[in-house]
Formats: sequence, C-alpha cells, structure tokens
Amino acid sequence: MAKVSKRSNDPYVILAETLNLVPNGFPAVEDGTHLKILKWIFKPEEALLASKLKLPGETIKKLSKRLKMPACELTEKLDLMFKKGQVRVFRNKKGKHYALLPFVPGIYEDQINRNNKELVLLMEDYFKKSRGDIVFTSDPPIFRVIPVKQAIKTDLKVHPHSEAATIILNAKSWGIRKCTCRVHQGLIDNRCEYPISVCIETWNEENAFDFSNTTKPITMQEALDYLKEAQDAGLIHTSMNVASGHPYICNCCTCCCNVFRAVNEFGRPNAFVKSDYILSLDETACSGCGECVDRCQLKLLEIKDDKCAVDDTCIGCGVCVLVCPEEALSLVLRKAKEIKRPPKNLIFWMLRRAFKRKINPFKLI
Ligand code: SF4
Ligand code: SF4
Ligand code: SF4
Repeated sequence: MAKVSKRSNDPYVILAETLNLVPNGFPAVEDGTHLKILKWIFKPEEALLASKLKLPGETIKKLSKRLKMPACELTEKLDLMFKKGQVRVFRNKKGKHYALLPFVPGIYEDQINRNNKELVLLMEDYFKKSRGDIVFTSDPPIFRVIPVKQAIKTDLKVHPHSEAATIILNAKSWGIRKCTCRVHQGLIDNRCEYPISVCIETWNEENAFDFSNTTKPITMQEALDYLKEAQDAGLIHTSMNVASGHPYICNCCTCCCNVFRAVNEFGRPNAFVKSDYILSLDETACSGCGECVDRCQLKLLEIKDDKCAVDDTCIGCGVCVLVCPEEALSLVLRKAKEIKRPPKNLIFWMLRRAFKRKINPFKLI
C-alpha cells in the first residue's frame, strides 16, 4: 500500500486520507487509482469541503461558524453535493445535518444515479489493486449474514440481530433502493438475473428517506413484502454487523455482491460474519431429490449416496432450507466458540474498529 503525504495540498489526497480515517477505511493504492475515483466523483473544491465534514454531522449554523463560511453559500454547495452522493444529510429534532460519508458503504453506493462504465472500471481496478484491504480485513467486519427466520429450528431463541423482519419492525423509516453491486455489474454487461430493487434501508427516525435521491420511502409493510420477494428469489440477507440500529438489509447474490467477491476473488475470508446458525440435515427425512443443491449460492451442497451432504463452511443463510420438500433441513445454533457477537450499535462498532485499526476516530467527531 502506498503512503500518502500528510502535508499534501492536493484536495483529493486530503479527502482520501480523511476517508481512510473513517473506521470503514479507504486505503491508498500505489498507482493512485483511489485518487482517480475521487476525481471522477468530486470537483477539487467539493473534495476539500467534504474532507472538512465530521462523521456525526453538524447543522449549517455550526458548520458555517466552524468553517468561517457564509451559511447560504455553504447550504447551496452542500445541498448540491448531497444530490451528487458526496455527503450525508439527515434530519433530527435539532434540524438538518450535513455529515462526512464513508467511502463504502456510502459514497460509492450513492453514485448509483451517476455511475457509468468509466467509474465501474476504475472501481474494478481499485478492487484488484487493494484486494479489499482494510475494508474487508479489519475487525469487526462491516457485514453480517442474517438467516431466513423460517429456516431456524422453531425451539431456538433468536436474537433480534438475527431476524430481518425484527430489524424492519424496530425501525421508524423504511426505504428501497437499487442494489449497487448489480447495477455495477450491469454497467460492464455482467449482471445476473436476480431482482435489482431489493436493498431495504431502515432508520430509527421518522421520515428519514423523504429527501433522498437514491432511496424511495416505503411503508413497513412494503419493506416486509420486499424482504419476502428477496427470500423467494433465493437472495442472502446481510446487514451491518451490529446488534441494534441496523441501517439496511441487503439481499445479496454471490455473483455480483462486492462483499462475497472479496471472499471468493480477493481471498478475504473475514469480509463478513457468518450467521449464528449452521445447516443441519435430518438424514432419515432426506430423499436425495437435490432441490436444495442449486439453491445454495455458495455451492456447499451436493448429493452423495442418495443423500444431501453439507459442507461445514456453511454461512447459515437458510436459503436452501425453504425449498426442501421433506423438511429435512433446518438451521441450528453453531458451537458457542464459533459465534461472533456483534457490537452493541454503530457507535460501538466504530470505536472497536477504530481501536483495532489504531486510528483516532475522534479527529472526525
Ligand atoms: S451488498 Fe448485496 S444487496 Fe447490497 S448492494 Fe451489494 S449485492 Fe446488492
Ligand atoms: S448450505 Fe448454502 S444455502 Fe444452505 S444455509 Fe448454508 S450457505 Fe446457506
Ligand atoms: S431438498 Fe431436502 S430432501 Fe431434497 S436433497 Fe435436499 S435435503 Fe434432501
């Protein structure tokens, strides 16, 4: 990995360094492809302004005072940057806030309306050179597999973080957006046939998506219906690796998803956390019909001696369980030592990840 000069005056270098200070990470690569990506997304003055924002967000009044810029000029600039997916905007009881957005998930996902083949090829080049370093190698991981609830043995207690429907029921706002990874692959003619509008966003404040350019606000029932659609299609639920306050439920395919690609193509086995569960087979009930085999996107099932055989690297998504006509499959709890408890919430996640990465997140707070 290249080291970038801390004294650089280049707005793109400054922004890249700032984004790498976010616990998610945005590591530099030797030939500067990471800077080419930022140049595609930001004008120089936008890059500089974005690099001055804080992670928790500030009101225009506070920002204008801190940055010594007129409030109306700042509002105009930041509202345009929000439309371009360069900064985060949210509202709470204290009003509208502007915040620094992590690179992934964040800035890249928010390019969905502007994205084109040029940016996708730059990102592909960046993936190959960085091989998901920091983003997919730091602890705690960003993503976690959420099992299909109906696949879990009925007598088992299920933690709320292991239940997609509970994540939806606990939220106060819901939204739907296109899957960035499938749009990304579509722009290089490599997209699969899975449904595309299945990324469910959730937030713990009301009306959180009313002003979004990328996410359409939906009702709780619609969010549950999208979840069912994803489940029926055989997509794998994933979310942020936290115990509460989940901001999204992704519905992933292993072919397009950049997280699964990090495991399969870049050799990053810890890119996500497996669910707390693992597949269990009732051999006496299995007829060897093979229905489950094609359903596992990770190709972990096969028929041996007329019975289903399960690979022990199963991630516990439960997708295969739903198609078994004999009810021979179910998810059971993993051994205690294999279960990785998620951080309590996003703040604990950030602090733990910053601590492990030996970075000081307080510079961005
Ligand atoms: S993580 Fe999964 S659902 Fe989310 S954008 Fe990527 S493939 Fe789509
Ligand atoms: S065998 Fe495959 S589809 Fe079934 S739970 Fe495991 S990873 Fe998911
Ligand atoms: S779908 Fe069920 S019955 Fe058929 S092979 Fe798989 S486990 Fe056995």
